[in-house]
Amino acid sequence: MQIYWTKINKIKEEASEVNTYLLDCPKDFEWEEGAHTHLAMKGFNAGDKPNRSLVRHMSISTLPYEGSIGITTRIKEQCSEYKSILGHLKVGDEVALFKTGSNVTLKRENKPIYLLSSGVGLATFRPLVLDYLKCTDNITHLHSLNIESSKQYLFTDVFKTAVDKQFKAQFVGRRQDYYEEVNNLTENKEGLFYIVGSDDFLKQNIDILLEEGISTDQIVLDKHPQQLSAFI
Ligand SMILES: Cc1cc2nc3c(=O)[nH]c(=O)nc-3n(C[C@H](O)[C@H](O)[C@H](O)COP(=O)(O)OP(=O)(O)OC[C@H]3O[C@@H](n4cnc5c(N)ncnc54)[C@H](O)[C@@H]3O)c2cc1C
Repeated sequence: MQIYWTKINKIKEEASEVNTYLLDCPKDFEWEEGAHTHLAMKGFNAGDKPNRSLVRHMSISTLPYEGSIGITTRIKEQCSEYKSILGHLKVGDEVALFKTGSNVTLKRENKPIYLLSSGVGLATFRPLVLDYLKCTDNITHLHSLNIESSKQYLFTDVFKTAVDKQFKAQFVGRRQDYYEEVNNLTENKEGLFYIVGSDDFLKQNIDILLEEGISTDQIVLDKHPQQLSAFI
């Protein structure tokens, strides 16, 4: 397993408690839209076994052409040891990245794509939207629906409706509005539904989609193929 040690080059405050850590791109480090990686804090591999409390899965919220690896996360006042360490890191500090892959690349199958997310789950979709806006080929339209109860919506510079590109960005603050809108989206029975959020959020969305006649092969989750059977 290759471990890439790299430095933080910028910390961007996206909203209260939500930061994007921009990391230098190590030589040979490659990723595509929808990628996730393991982000580890110093000392994670100091013992015989990796210290799991210093490692988390994180999505990469940027694309390679932007020149940095972006990691977007929420750090609340009451937080885990991991988030507490991350929250104290400064520009120039080192972190490690390893085991990078993507389960949620854009499927260009001449179908509409619906991106359903909760909170910072939107970070996973930012590169998909950038990729789509650069090239809309073989996707009939793209629609993002994000629920953020704080109403401090993220990445509004990218998630901005663009009628000429058949892209709709929608943010809601209330669960009731969110699930009503999911129901509306299922009217198109051809669509592909990508979902990112907590496991409970995934299950609730999947239940609605299946009830409305969407089939499991139209649902895309940011899960390793082996984990998928627990959901669909
Ligand atoms: C493929 C994939 C991609 C992901 N991408 C992202 C991403 O881009 N951004 C992102 O933020 N997350 C992402 N996650 C989730 C991430 O891996 C973490 O599980 C998540 O960020 C919570 O980590 P944590 O250390 O805050 O909480 P955990 O330690 O996992 O604990 C869960 C909850 O318990 C609470 N908690 C834990 N310890 C304490 C404590 N000592 N005191 C009080 N409360 C506590 C926290 O509020 C936390 O919400 C992704 C996960 C996967 C599988």
